[in-house]
Amino acid sequence: MRKFGFKLFNSNLQNAPEFVKECADFAKQQEDMFIELMVLTDRPQAELYELKKILKDVEVRIHCVHSSYVFDAGNKSLEKVNREMFEYTRFAADLFNSKSIVVHAGNGHGKEYLDETVRQFKLFNDKRIVVENLPYYDNNGDDLSGSSADEIKYIMDKTGCGFCFDFSHAVCTATQLNIDIDTQLKSLFDLKPTVYHMCDGDLNQSQDLHLHYGAGNYPLKHFLNDYTAKDAYITMETGEFALHNDLSIKDYEYLKSL
Ligand SMILES: [Zn+2]
Repeated sequence: MRKFGFKLFNSNLQNAPEFVKECADFAKQQEDMFIELMVLTDRPQAELYELKKILKDVEVRIHCVHSSYVFDAGNKSLEKVNREMFEYTRFAADLFNSKSIVVHAGNGHGKEYLDETVRQFKLFNDKRIVVENLPYYDNNGDDLSGSSADEIKYIMDKTGCGFCFDFSHAVCTATQLNIDIDTQLKSLFDLKPTVYHMCDGDLNQSQDLHLHYGAGNYPLKHFLNDYTAKDAYITMETGEFALHNDLSIKDYEYLKSL
């Protein structure tokens, strides 16, 4: 059975408490839902314990922060801060019994950055890590590692980690490098991802837009049916910050209708 996940941040308990409660209540009523929790590392542990209570009986999967929050496994000078951030993330993963921890490949183009990501992933030393594929350039035009199936496979082979397949990042990469989109998606799907990120977007743009389903032109039915495993965990990375989860529920119903 495919499972679909609302995305929460631990900080939502403070800035969108009703959103958290509505997500928890709705997910509890479905047999095919989970929550993906992005763990901001400058938040108090008490918040995680409170979330654990609210999310009782809901499966939680963990996402480690990425370069928007300093963390960058491809940057040697950040090793200490990356390890501290990962430790807090690991604490959350233990607390929620998460079976996976999504971690982005590092920034930078070239083997030295890829090898630094491998080195730091090994230092993190956690079998639950699933590396997420990234666009070739981020929305600011900065270089990112782990955009191709070859690079993801390299990281997986060297560290033994799993794979989180982000569709929008793959489409961005294909658009940025003028690669056929299906060729790009198939090469990544062949790496047998277990966790997925899916939003809608614009096939003609190389920006990751995180649109609600139906608001863009991605062939989502094709993506879902042809490039996700039958037991996939699919996080719905849609929409902007929200105080209520009505649009998130619509997204869930949209995917279920495909
Ligand atoms: Zn991610």
